[in-house]
Amino acid sequence: MFSTDRRAFLKAAALGAVASGFQIPELALAADSRPVKPSPGYYSFAIGEFQITMLCDGIFFLPTDSFATNIQPEEKKPYFDAHYLAPDIVRLQANPLVIDTGQKRILVDTGLTPGTEWAAHAGRLTKSLAAAGIEPGSVDTVVLTHCHPDHIGGLVTDPTGQFPKTDLVLSETELDLWNSPDFASKLPDWAAQSAPAAQKVFAALGGRVHPIKGGADIATGVTTIDTPGHTQGHMSLLVGSGSDQLLITGDAIANIHFSFDHPQWQIKWDHDQEKGAKTRGALLDRAANDRLLVAGYHYPFPGVGHVVKEGMGYRWLPADWVLDG
Ligand SMILES: [Zn+2]
Repeated sequence: MFSTDRRAFLKAAALGAVASGFQIPELALAADSRPVKPSPGYYSFAIGEFQITMLCDGIFFLPTDSFATNIQPEEKKPYFDAHYLAPDIVRLQANPLVIDTGQKRILVDTGLTPGTEWAAHAGRLTKSLAAAGIEPGSVDTVVLTHCHPDHIGGLVTDPTGQFPKTDLVLSETELDLWNSPDFASKLPDWAAQSAPAAQKVFAALGGRVHPIKGGADIATGVTTIDTPGHTQGHMSLLVGSGSDQLLITGDAIANIHFSFDHPQWQIKWDHDQEKGAKTRGALLDRAANDRLLVAGYHYPFPGVGHVVKEGMGYRWLPADWVLDG
């Protein structure tokens, strides 16, 4: 998806890791760095009368150490090797999406802040919206599943200019968490670093910020689900039109490998790692039992598929691409 040589790729990964609050002196990234042509960066499909457009914001990197934090290396290493997960760095995609209900255009999450070091290969939201033919001025509502910088990042540079008409919806718990003068005592250290940027977004949007209770509707057919753990106020969304449904997980189920095979494997990026694991298990169970179509934020693009039970865990089944014309 990106033209770069291995040296630039590793450097970007290292800078990204440092910029997002990690110190990784040496990186051995088992990556195929052969240049490929950029893709258009969007994929649209129907949920009943609604149109869903998955948008590619790009990829970024997090240290492998930060995943499966409660698992011993003897168990973790063979699993990561078997799933082609590099020993030092896990690559994550970021997939914001637009729900077009016919009455309202709702953007769910906004990717990373373009031009920042850890977004060397991300921050493409505006380009992907343009490729999909979606005018930023036509977005009525931005919903944030939570306020980590890979979700609020697309609003940081120019909160009122980027989406001139939009309201911002997030859970009241999440707003309180990040907008509190006392944020440093409520957030893990690594997350607290990005709270000032989030506060600038809230201040710039002012009365256009609408905190809601998890479980409230955002529009007819678009309902939030309280899924705390990743952050205290994390929300997932359930979209329904006609007999079709789509579950938008946000970061409650972060990875298509270990989050599915071993939902109880904990993740540093869950503010409450135990609660995160519990919520993940419950949401996977619901998706499998109710045969829901699922959109995942950090899954290989476009990140749409189903969940089936397998063994003691679950398996991700990517949906087929359906191409018209
Ligand atoms: Zn995320």
